[in-house]
Amino acid sequence: MIREHKGFVPLSLSEFDTLTRLLSELLSTGHPPVIIPGEAILGIEAMAAGISAPGRTFLNVVTGPYGSLFGKWLERGGATVVEVKVPFDEVVPAEEVAAAVERFNPVALSFVQAEVVTGGSNPAKEILKIARGFNLITVMDSVSAVGGEALPVDEWGVDLVAVGAQKALAGPNGVSAVSISPRGWEFMESNVNAPRNSILSLLDLKPPQQGTRPVRVPPNIPALEARALIAALTDIEEEGLEQVIKRHESAAASAVAGIKALGLEPWQKNSKHYSTLTTTVRISEQNLRIDQPVGIVAPGDGELFGHLLRINHFGANACRQSVEEAITTLAQLLNQDAAHALKAIRLVWGAPHDQ
Ligand SMILES: *Cc1c(COP(=O)(O)O)cnc(C)c1O
Repeated sequence: MIREHKGFVPLSLSEFDTLTRLLSELLSTGHPPVIIPGEAILGIEAMAAGISAPGRTFLNVVTGPYGSLFGKWLERGGATVVEVKVPFDEVVPAEEVAAAVERFNPVALSFVQAEVVTGGSNPAKEILKIARGFNLITVMDSVSAVGGEALPVDEWGVDLVAVGAQKALAGPNGVSAVSISPRGWEFMESNVNAPRNSILSLLDLKPPQQGTRPVRVPPNIPALEARALIAALTDIEEEGLEQVIKRHESAAASAVAGIKALGLEPWQKNSKHYSTLTTTVRISEQNLRIDQPVGIVAPGDGELFGHLLRINHFGANACRQSVEEAITTLAQLLNQDAAHALKAIRLVWGAPHDQ
């Protein structure tokens, strides 16, 4: 057999345009997002590096481990960082954010939209409304929220937001995006400390202004990952973002119904603020202490180990079957019959009980 040696086909301008369009549509924004040549965490660190400077005060909301990390990166850039921190089985009340803004008079506010680790989701719309009232720059980590809940970037006035595809969007983890408003770009461009000629530089990756097309594909975008992201976002477009979000809502509601039927309690205290990506289960019995994941049931991360179990019903696992398997696993750990819990799950999905 004769093999043709064509070599690797680099990402074309048309593929790059497609990716930019799909990301803009996903986020309902008219401003082309920056495509980040790496995992979402790179975009988050790059945001912190680009906006942090001595003399700037940030209000950083901490409702889980990613928020703490973001605060440390802001401090590394010389900014003054004040925190609003809540126990990890709660989310931040919007009034607490408002009170802290009045007290500390920050220039910017940062928070994580949804926390897969704690199973909580912050009241993003209310928090952003408060921030706009005070004319603050708003910075969000929505890596695990996008695809699981609403994120209309322009309508909500988000200035910088990091997203990734490896959670609700069932996409690759090797390329991600940061969406930046014109105000967000000004905030970064006016920062003399913002990195240049660096893997952390968002300024180096700034897309051309609206209306002007890029003349070349940024050479650092990993082509295979970019193609995988195009494929994942095309699937999302076909299913419809609203339907994807609904699927995550049903997965969460059915997981909660399932654990309650087993006599277990969610780790998160307020049912209005459960994340749609993970359901966290308060560990009440020795039997629930697992060291290794079993399917989509996983032990708590870091300091939450031994306190909670996570059911990771996101992406392709935001479906009835995956939730049923997870609840069956929990029933087995508890030496219980799963039948009534499975019935509770099917009720939420609207499927016949005896199916
Ligand atoms: C998953 C996640 C990230 C990204 O972490 P990776 O190491 O890129 O997977 C960042 N923030 C939040 C809130 C996440 O859930």
